[in-house]
Amino acid sequence: MIDIDRLHKSYLTPDGGVSEVLKGVSLRVPPCSITAVVGPSGAGKSTLARCISLLERPDSGSIRVNDQDLSLLSGETLRRARRSIGTVFQSSALLGRKTAAQNIALPLAYLGVVEHEIRARVGELLENVGLSHKADFYPAQLSGGQRQRIAIARALALRPTVLLADEATSGLDPQATATVLDLLRKLKEEYRLAIVLITHEMDAVRAAADAVAEIRDGAIVQAGSVRELLSRPDSLLGEQLLPLAPAAARADLLLRLSYRHDVPVANDWIGRLSQQLALRIDLLGGHVEMIDGRLAGRLQAGVSFRGERLSAGQVLDALAQLGIAAELLDSAPALQEAV
Ligand code: ADP
Repeated sequence: MIDIDRLHKSYLTPDGGVSEVLKGVSLRVPPCSITAVVGPSGAGKSTLARCISLLERPDSGSIRVNDQDLSLLSGETLRRARRSIGTVFQSSALLGRKTAAQNIALPLAYLGVVEHEIRARVGELLENVGLSHKADFYPAQLSGGQRQRIAIARALALRPTVLLADEATSGLDPQATATVLDLLRKLKEEYRLAIVLITHEMDAVRAAADAVAEIRDGAIVQAGSVRELLSRPDSLLGEQLLPLAPAAARADLLLRLSYRHDVPVANDWIGRLSQQLALRIDLLGGHVEMIDGRLAGRLQAGVSFRGERLSAGQVLDALAQLGIAAELLDSAPALQEAV
């Protein structure tokens, strides 16, 4: 578990002023879970990552890992505490003159762990990242995705409880990205890891994260479970996770819909609603996919009345009964008063 509480960090600017980069960031990542931190360039993601990996000391606030406040430590106790946090960066930074196995062994050798224990631990880690057959390969002989998997194995060598992945899949091709994200999901269960995934890739968030926090201008502006954010029609993060194509239609109502997490996969809501209320429903854009074994979807739909004109409220209520949360984006002028 990592528990970040009201973290503040300022830098001195070249003109002698002070720029506050983190303005009270709080974030809790429980064991066996992945929380993605997203946000635009310059928002403070790297600064947060450097504070979490204890490379940078915050001005105030705390970073507790398993109930120990790491931001207060220094010297030898800080070095020891660092072992509870493994880090993987964008470029894997493996040593080119050492094999995959030797790279994974480095943190253990540095601590003076005996040879046979190193061999056993490295063997276990290589197997866990699916690269036992590449143990004696040098980094240059591995693909980008394989290098990242070795870097993950090395980050886990000292049995940390927190793994910080800072843009760990940026620059990888989609297939390698998928493999690395699958691996993170597997390892979080196996080692009960609290994983902080700093990324600008919304695909990575959808594929791997349990929760997501958006940081803007040094503060967390929105956070929650991925499933919950996707099922809230008004969620800006949900909109970024599954963006809708702009749509214009000659419909009576223009709605934005999102599936609540309990919508059954085989729910034919369009068929049922069109019959029940004599409507025509046109899907204008959106995404539906399986996340965590359940349907997650955000759609834009045009509703045209074939019979009696209903109020938007009646349509929204009928949708809600079918497990679809809806928000009215626009309506034909004649309907404005009925809404
Ligand atoms: P992100 O990773 O989200 O792109 P950063 O954490 O790198 O954002 O940067 C946030 C802000 O902090 C930027 O305005 C950047 O210029 C500033 N900043 C980052 N590191 C330093 C530093 N060492 N000294 C001064 N300003 C810094």
